[in-house]
Amino acid sequence: MLGSIELGGTKIICAVGYEDKIIERQRFDTKNPLDNIKEIQEFFKDRDVTSIGIGMFGPIDVDKDSKTYGYVLKTPKLKWQNFDFLGNLKKHLDAKMYFTTDVNEAAMGEYELGAGIGKKSLLYLTIGTGIGGGMIYNGEILQGVTHPEMGHIEVTREEGDDVKSNCAFHENCLEGLSNGPSIEKRTNKKGEDLDKDDKVFDLVSKYIAKALITYTLILRPEVIVLGGGVINKDGVIEKIRKHFVKLKTDYFDIDDVDSYIVKPKLSNNSGIIGGFVLANKLEK
Ligand code: ZN
Repeated sequence: MLGSIELGGTKIICAVGYEDKIIERQRFDTKNPLDNIKEIQEFFKDRDVTSIGIGMFGPIDVDKDSKTYGYVLKTPKLKWQNFDFLGNLKKHLDAKMYFTTDVNEAAMGEYELGAGIGKKSLLYLTIGTGIGGGMIYNGEILQGVTHPEMGHIEVTREEGDDVKSNCAFHENCLEGLSNGPSIEKRTNKKGEDLDKDDKVFDLVSKYIAKALITYTLILRPEVIVLGGGVINKDGVIEKIRKHFVKLKTDYFDIDDVDSYIVKPKLSNNSGIIGGFVLANKLEK
């Protein structure tokens, strides 16, 4: 049997199963790393898994030749900063482990068993409290020295939008201007409590569309999958498509924007299924 772990800023999901089937799963709150390691170990202890795919919130060290491979790096979650996640987990669990980001894991799930079926390339983005992206090309995760940081590219601010960025590092990055908390900051209301036609959704959709044009120019995937809390709001993906078509001009052609920019086919399971896909790669 295969194992899968999806670690997010607020919750951790552990599961066992096969690429196309989740047999059992359990959810934990994200706390401090050692307590969470204990819970993860307890979950897998009596379940017979040989390989585990792990998708971890970033930034993380994914370079196998690095001294800090498997570490969590400069995350705003201070208890997790510089924590040797993979090393600690391996002390307690005897299984092969594939370690990557949560978005790469979800991208792999969608690529193999969701919106990417029959396609050679797929870009997955999550747009929630954080914004991140992962690109799969020919079945492989695309990365250089480390994983991409697609949430932190600069986007041009719209006139009159003077909200303070939600990113501690960049005044005008996509995450700082378009994540869930930025919506709250502009309106003093949570996104889910706002009318779907509130103009803030048009604004963040435009920022997201600007970023999607940049990604398209650089990567030109066959499909872009958008997940995360902001995308779950009614009407947001339609607004993003509308701005995308308008802003892209005629420089490149997209035949059908509705099938180019899509929601995850595996709904909330892209990450867990992706973990199984990654685990299965270690079995071969
Ligand atoms: Zn940033």
